[in-house]
Amino acid sequence: MKVLKFGGTSIQDGDRIRNVLGIIRRTMQDTPVIVVVSAIRKVTDLLLEAAVMASDGDVGYSKKLGEIETLHRELVEDLIETAGRKDVEEYLQAELSELGDVLHGVCLLHELSDKSSALIMSFGERFSAWIISSFLRQEGIEASYVDARNMIVTDSNHCDARVDMKASRKLIRAWFKGASGVPVVTGYIGAAPDGTATTLGRGGSDYTATIIGASVGVDKIEIWTDVDGFFSADPKRVRDAYALPFISYSEAMELSHSGAKVLHPYSVHPAMKAGIPISIRNSYNPDAEGTRIGMPEKSETVPERPVTGLSSINNVVLLNLSGSGMVGVPGIASRLFSCLAGHMINIIFISQASSEQSISLVINLAQAEKARRILEEEFAVEIAARQIESLTLRRHIAIIAVVGNDMSGHPGVSAHLFETLGKNGINVIAVAQGANEMNISFVVDSRDEDKALNCVHESFLLSRRTVHVFIAGTGTIAKSLIGQLRDHTYTLRKEMELDVVVSGMANTRMMVVKDGGIDLRNWEKALKPREDGKTIKNYIERIKARNLHNSIFVDCTASSDVAESYPDLLASNISIVTANKLGMAGSWALYETIRDAQHSSNARFLYETNVGAGLPIINTLNDLRNSGDKIIKIEGVLSGTLSYIFNELRKGEKFSDIVRQAKEAGYTEPDPREDLSGADFARKFLILGRELGYRLDYEDIECESLVPEHLRTDMSVDTFMEKLRSADAGYDEKIRKAAENDMTIAYAGEISEGKARISVKMLPLSNPVAGLNGTENMVVFTTDRYLDTPLVVKGPGAGGEVTAGGVFADILRIASYLI
Ligand code: ADP
Ligand code: ASP
Ligand code: MG
Repeated sequence: MKVLKFGGTSIQDGDRIRNVLGIIRRTMQDTPVIVVVSAIRKVTDLLLEAAVMASDGDVGYSKKLGEIETLHRELVEDLIETAGRKDVEEYLQAELSELGDVLHGVCLLHELSDKSSALIMSFGERFSAWIISSFLRQEGIEASYVDARNMIVTDSNHCDARVDMKASRKLIRAWFKGASGVPVVTGYIGAAPDGTATTLGRGGSDYTATIIGASVGVDKIEIWTDVDGFFSADPKRVRDAYALPFISYSEAMELSHSGAKVLHPYSVHPAMKAGIPISIRNSYNPDAEGTRIGMPEKSETVPERPVTGLSSINNVVLLNLSGSGMVGVPGIASRLFSCLAGHMINIIFISQASSEQSISLVINLAQAEKARRILEEEFAVEIAARQIESLTLRRHIAIIAVVGNDMSGHPGVSAHLFETLGKNGINVIAVAQGANEMNISFVVDSRDEDKALNCVHESFLLSRRTVHVFIAGTGTIAKSLIGQLRDHTYTLRKEMELDVVVSGMANTRMMVVKDGGIDLRNWEKALKPREDGKTIKNYIERIKARNLHNSIFVDCTASSDVAESYPDLLASNISIVTANKLGMAGSWALYETIRDAQHSSNARFLYETNVGAGLPIINTLNDLRNSGDKIIKIEGVLSGTLSYIFNELRKGEKFSDIVRQAKEAGYTEPDPREDLSGADFARKFLILGRELGYRLDYEDIECESLVPEHLRTDMSVDTFMEKLRSADAGYDEKIRKAAENDMTIAYAGEISEGKARISVKMLPLSNPVAGLNGTENMVVFTTDRYLDTPLVVKGPGAGGEVTAGGVFADILRIASYLI
């Protein structure tokens, strides 16, 4: 025999109920069934709303009542053929009028006692069980309506009643002894010893099913709901959560007590005691296996993961009692708990550190003020004597529970858990772990609830990890980066089990933010005109509001506004990869603010492409320094344009012709004076100098401008290009002089002893710089270890593809830190 319990969404309309008929028929081919039903979807909420309105004296409750009536009348019309409809309608009419009378009474008295409340709530299951049993009979199944008030005995805590199992078992057995056919039992409700209706708490129909199943001694209890089983986390909060094929009774108990709504918290116990397996099935997808809750069978492979699942509870409040006078004083905790218990206040979470200076509890929001009031009275003497210094309530928090049988005796679980939370900047407010070691619960701000669930889920329950990338800028570098990310999606998944999801893109005109990721083949279409302030601030506010785990902001702009927002991003624990130099080469004040923000954040900040595009220059420099080498000197050519010009000069071309060719080939900015001034080159040396620990500003970099002095007045690009011929002779002369000494010239920078200079230099032909080609960049490190033969990094130092490649590498570096 089986108990089949159908939840509200599984019977929400005629089609769903016909679907339930199919499930019942199929099951009946193998074994007799007992059916337990919830109220139709939304009905319990409507009843509650009507009751609250009535108690406020708001006659608008009758509108809610009307909604409830329409919903059920439509159902009857849909399901019950005309011949049998009269009976059902008469029943419904009688019940609705009773419900109307009760609500009317509540409205007149302006008072809603728990007793009236439970009575009002009981109608939902009474309606649904009556309609469904009538429908089953019409379809040829010998079904009967069973009112659980006649068999489930509870205490008198009407709205969240405790069940008297012994008394209930007796009545249930007696009822089922002579019964035949298919009983359709009202879930959720019972009766107090005085016969008044009670409820088993929200979601209590699951409990009804296991109470009946355990009392009758069925073979299996099936909970039919709207998801494929018991998931590793609430699928509405964690996108990658999956249905677990099996969980133990104790895991199901821990998870449901900690907020997994799929199963009522008390429902596991009766089944566990009777050794009856519970199965969670999807009425929308009956072919799915579902989750078996029970004792592990021998054939079931033991999962290699210590954590089975996560759940969370919100709408709770943290109550904190603290004071140095509590230390070593016996009885404080006992009085605290007794006082709360005496007032029926349930404690969800307890934590006390061994210093005994404070005790933290989590209770339901609805009871928080009452708890504070009664505790202030209870501890009035201690508060007056300042033995207890504070009694505070903290709202907007959530408890997250990490559950798994195999966590017990498995070292490192907490370490890994808190490391994951820390890297994502999630502050843990309180922690508790029971000695059974199968549940670690912690309290976080409710804003971090989803983020915590997602990052913990990913790090314990998934093999594949995700980083969320938000790109600023849609120019050459961003385009190349998207192309590279798109082309490597498969390889990253296969080889690194990593998903780099581009969750946002923006420029000053367009923006898109999408949690599940933007389609990288169609990103241009995804961008929508911005209607916000069109500033980087608005984009960042959107990113912050998403509060996704493993977030990386990628700056592909050349905007100082974007660079100025780095401290804000880091303070929000969003890592940054930037190709924009205006942060690290910005004012000293900005540089310091970024560095400070970086030190106080758990997020990462990488900017390898700021110097020499994709060439490994910053990393090489830091590796040398971190491994104890001493940097004596850094020399180099860090401008592709200027490198090209001097490499061509060496071949005997005229300076102005080369600049013209470079402009035509797109190697220069539209106004070549921007390159010739050396400003961009100087910024890179400024960054290198700061990397070495020198307090340098842009003005401290001695930089020779290649714009001839007499051409520094205001003039058009064309005029400038024309007049540049006047500089040719000077360069011819320099080349000639150098050649006389077996030397050559180059525009190169040098930094040593805190001084950075960039100028046209004469160099021996043997100098590596003399061998550069095209637009190549080069950096030469002379260090204690690389003294006679300096360490050289050489290669293309500009271009969308190589820069994007460097940005990509930085993203992967951060990903491997985060996951
Ligand atoms: P029913 O009306 O069938 O009783 P509920 O709404 O009470 O259904 O429970 C099912 C819902 O529980 C799911 O839709 C899901 O959003 C939520 N839920 C929360 N945690 C979990 C979990 N760990 N596994 C499955 N569902 C969960
Ligand atoms: N109808 C009740 C509720 O909505 C009980 C249940 O659905 O299990 O809470
Ligand atoms: Mg439920």
